Amino acid sequence: MPEGHSVHRIARQFERHFEGTPVTVTSPQGRFAAGAAQLDGHEIVRSEAVGKQLFLEFDHGLWLRVHLGIYGAWDFAGDITVDARRPGPADATTASASGRMGQTGQRGTTVPTTDLAAHEHSLSSMGAPRLTRLRMSEQEKLEDDIESFPPEPIGAVRVRLLTDRAVADLRGPTACEVQTPEQVDATIAKLGPDPLVGDPAVGEERFVAAVRKKPTPIALLLMDQAVVSGIGNVYRAEMLFRARQNPFTPGKEVREEVVRGLWRDWVKLLTLGVETGQMLTMDDLSPDAYQRALASRADRHWVYHRTGEPCRVCGTPIMMQELGGRKLYWCPVDQA
Ligand SMILES: [Zn+2]
Repeated sequence: MPEGHSVHRIARQFERHFEGTPVTVTSPQGRFAAGAAQLDGHEIVRSEAVGKQLFLEFDHGLWLRVHLGIYGAWDFAGDITVDARRPGPADATTASASGRMGQTGQRGTTVPTTDLAAHEHSLSSMGAPRLTRLRMSEQEKLEDDIESFPPEPIGAVRVRLLTDRAVADLRGPTACEVQTPEQVDATIAKLGPDPLVGDPAVGEERFVAAVRKKPTPIALLLMDQAVVSGIGNVYRAEMLFRARQNPFTPGKEVREEVVRGLWRDWVKLLTLGVETGQMLTMDDLSPDAYQRALASRADRHWVYHRTGEPCRVCGTPIMMQELGGRKLYWCPVDQA
């Protein structure tokens, strides 16, 4: 399941390569034919992620809402951005101070407050679109070049968004629907705060208030999208280890400074995830260890997917237990 950083990166692709030009909207698979007809020929004027959901606003006021769920994926091709940048540890430590998207009002204009674009390599070129293809889902994968533009849809494509320079094919989403502004507001109102949407200080207060009134284990609250947006199984396990917090403590019994620390850590990790495309959760790595962490998931995490392996801090075997239908990983000593 894609976590929040992936969806923010997908929103960025749309912002850079689809906004401001008419979009041909179709449903090659047919299941979204009626929705596609409502959007066809209009321009995308805003692209936003809130947690795990993507919202694209078109110039006549209707929105496309997409939730990838577990199996969904976007395939981009043509003039798209491939994130070739792999920052060093020095960048990682400053990442929390940059990269935040400003927002005014509940769903106001999103303004990039940093020049992240300067760090990335757009494959855009004058003339014909380049033949690159990039899959964006839980992971990002550069696939074989396309042979001509636009490429034929592959498989059951629910919706295709096509401009003269770029194409995005959506497959396997949990949700794909046209919404009015009122419906978008109602959807977002049910979601917990996202550090990259609106003022993170306001988000922190909402998060603290929600956690501190619930008897639910903190490990479940972190993945409850009504409490906080965008956290999935990897970030949840890693954030609890980073806080040395017992995952089973009821939210209302977790000390307030720990709850605030969890939020601030999410702000930091999400920002870093959006920049790198990786869920980097280990700090203070040597340059070599940092490169290993970027290259290999086995070297990237404190506890996630490390059942039975020695804790990187105390050596105790990492524990795993199903909680709410998802695997939870933790160190029984550091997180006692
Ligand atoms: Zn430990």
